[in-house]
Amino acid sequence: ESYLARLRLTEPQLNSFLHVSDSVLREAQDLDRRIASNEEVGLLAGVLVGVKDNLCTADMPSTGGSRILEGYQPPFDATAVKRVKDLGGIVVGKTNMDEFGMGSTTEGSAFQVTANPWDISRVPGGSSGGSAAAVSARQCMVSLGSDTGGSVRQPASFCGVVGLKPTYGRVSRFGLMAYASSLDVVGCFGSSVVDTGILLHAISGHDRFDATTSKQDVPDFGSHFVSATSWESKPLKGLRIGLIRETLEDGVESGVVSAIRAAALHFEELGCTVNEVSLPSFSLGLPAYYILASSESSSNLSRYDGIRYGKQVFADELSSLYGDSRAEGFGSEVKMRILMGTYALSAGYYDAYYKRAQQVRTIIRNSFKEALNQNDVLISPAAPSPAYKIGEKKNDPLAMYAGDIMTVNVNLAGLPALVLPCGFVEGGSTGLPVGLQMIGSAFCEGELLRVGHIFE
Ligand code: GLN
Repeated sequence: ESYLARLRLTEPQLNSFLHVSDSVLREAQDLDRRIASNEEVGLLAGVLVGVKDNLCTADMPSTGGSRILEGYQPPFDATAVKRVKDLGGIVVGKTNMDEFGMGSTTEGSAFQVTANPWDISRVPGGSSGGSAAAVSARQCMVSLGSDTGGSVRQPASFCGVVGLKPTYGRVSRFGLMAYASSLDVVGCFGSSVVDTGILLHAISGHDRFDATTSKQDVPDFGSHFVSATSWESKPLKGLRIGLIRETLEDGVESGVVSAIRAAALHFEELGCTVNEVSLPSFSLGLPAYYILASSESSSNLSRYDGIRYGKQVFADELSSLYGDSRAEGFGSEVKMRILMGTYALSAGYYDAYYKRAQQVRTIIRNSFKEALNQNDVLISPAAPSPAYKIGEKKNDPLAMYAGDIMTVNVNLAGLPALVLPCGFVEGGSTGLPVGLQMIGSAFCEGELLRVGHIFE
């Protein structure tokens, strides 16, 4: 009840949700009854979870932030959502997002602009801005997002919460509306590392509906924190941390650089060794990412044809039915991505763009591998600046894309990364949060969570 009251109070300013469930209390009372009669309830019993609107939910609309899916209600739950529900989690509602995940501010939603709870004249980041704002404002306890190029980590940084992008293949994408399938992952937000780890634990693991999920064992990301108190006084002694040099160079706000340097000192106090490492291919990530993500999206979004799902603009000819439905249904950023992707994939340009971007992806992947052979964890800012003002970047796509420089490489390499608050810079009335990004080896989320929990 107190969460719902808070949601009602804050939502008029924040607009984090596109849809709020009307059965939260009923589900909670049901759980109460089951607990009273000694029935087993799961790991997430009574936990209020916000769900990004690109994850399908059978009992609520799922639009992916797009008019083309306005009013669409899928006939099934995404696997991540199903697992949350099966473990007793209660879905509070569907959170706002940039249309199909394309954006970094949530201003690209076809329906509403979400505000940053730290300063409502600023954006919450994106594309999972609604999920980040909802946890930050305690409208729910944890939330699900998706991260194709930073959409969990950058909003976590802007909203001062914890965000985790799992290894590609750790969490099923079944029921996640595809943006760029080789990069998309479902991720988690929480107000602490422990909460975030528990949610990750709930949703991880092989799924027969997603052939790219890994059969690797899922360690207990949740309860292994219980032993945290018994760790020795220098619990991170000997841990090798690599501070990525290229992430503290030109274009990164000085307050962000100082916060990350302070975080590095804190790691040293905790017994780690911190060394600068260089990833010379770092800046190539941005162009490679935008070519690959646009290319994949131009193919994935062909399914919105006005026939199979959502919006249909009726026309006499089939080709105009497709054309008009897409012209009215998609927003301008989505159209631009489809055009860029189609261009990069066309005969005559393919070798120069798509193929070259794939080659760059391999170089990036290898350079991370090498850096993670010499270091246990790599650190960087999660974004080059704190939250932007609403409208600041909206009409400047290149400036918007440039803000993703810290996060896109990690998706290209398929690695896990944890973002947690590490300080503030001036701005708003309280200061604006800065996020630290910790990158680990594939399937080492447990180690990131352990280190993050001690750091926190
Ligand atoms: N901002 C990036 C993009 O627009 C990343 C988005 C995401 O991770 N979904 O593609």
